[in-house]
Amino acid sequence: MSTQRLKTAIITGITGQDGAYLAQLLVEKNYCVIGIHREGDGNDFYRLEYLGVRDKIELLGCNLLDPKACTELLRSFAPDEIYNLVAQSSVSYSFSKPHETIEFNIMTVLNLLEAIRSVDTNIKYYQASSSEMFGKIESLPISTHTQLHPISPYGISKAAGHWMVSQYREAYGLFAISGILFNHESYLRTDSFFVKKVIKAAIRISRGLQTTLALGNIDIKRDFGHAKEYVKAIWMMMQLDQPTDFQVCSGTSVSLRQIAFYVFDQLNVDHERIVIDPALFRPAEIKDIYGDKSEVEKQTEWKYTLTFFEVLDMLIKEELANDPYEA
Ligand code: NAP
Repeated sequence: MSTQRLKTAIITGITGQDGAYLAQLLVEKNYCVIGIHREGDGNDFYRLEYLGVRDKIELLGCNLLDPKACTELLRSFAPDEIYNLVAQSSVSYSFSKPHETIEFNIMTVLNLLEAIRSVDTNIKYYQASSSEMFGKIESLPISTHTQLHPISPYGISKAAGHWMVSQYREAYGLFAISGILFNHESYLRTDSFFVKKVIKAAIRISRGLQTTLALGNIDIKRDFGHAKEYVKAIWMMMQLDQPTDFQVCSGTSVSLRQIAFYVFDQLNVDHERIVIDPALFRPAEIKDIYGDKSEVEKQTEWKYTLTFFEVLDMLIKEELANDPYEA
């Protein structure tokens, strides 16, 4: 009787939103998961704990800016798949920390791809690309013909990583792919990101713990989905025979104003509690963006049907169920 070998996957950015959901998915699929976090103490594994997978994966500190450490990592664990999710992931923060964003988000990709090239070219590689790479957009939806024209340090760093993956695939024949993911949210999103910030503030205002919520430009539109569903697409594209980049999105955009008003309505909070603060406007901003999910739905079994208002209902419910707010 033959026993099926467990696949080994390395996930970088294991402490983040997508790292946690992907770890949960791969554990369910019986993978041996190695989760990479920052070196040293002080890492916060609350997302992995929340999903009940902290004890089911191996956690390891590694400096991904060190090429030798990346090579050693691959030699030690001989992974079948690498999911490179690590990044300085905030567009806003990237305007104030361009050096850090560009260096970290580009060099980590280069180091991992070079490590694959020197250790084992059969290792499959996934890169977390972003719709922010498109920036200045001439027409929608985003298609395979849309040019990359990033307008933030974050977008530039992701575009560079994206091209590197493409170059390593073409030049060295690696199974290296980019998932071009549009905004995806969850209860596990970092508090400073828009949707989580709005939900938390609305609950706090409804409880008399906060008076107003300051927001920047809420007339921009984005294509939003749920992180737990999007990591399924990531895994499926890594199981294909041919390495192919895909857009992962809902296929429609909603404005930040619609989101904020919807959340405030659900929690019976007056819209007048929202204060627009020009200091929170970004130096450059994509006005509207949405993608096209037809290719990923055609070539994998992934299907996405949730509207973002359905996602918001789920997120509000989950936030209230884990109520940390004191009355
Ligand atoms: P996230 O929650 O912000 O997670 C980012 C991860 O990167 C965390 O584990 C974080 O570690 C780590 N990290 C950041 N800076 C680091 C540094 N200097 N040194 C070491 N580790 C560092 O992001 P996410 O939402 O899960 O997104 C996952 C990936 O998808 C990212 O590459 C992001 O850019 C990309 N993406 C996300 C979206 C989205 O809407 N969520 C859309 C498109 C693309 P700490 O916890 O220690 O900070």
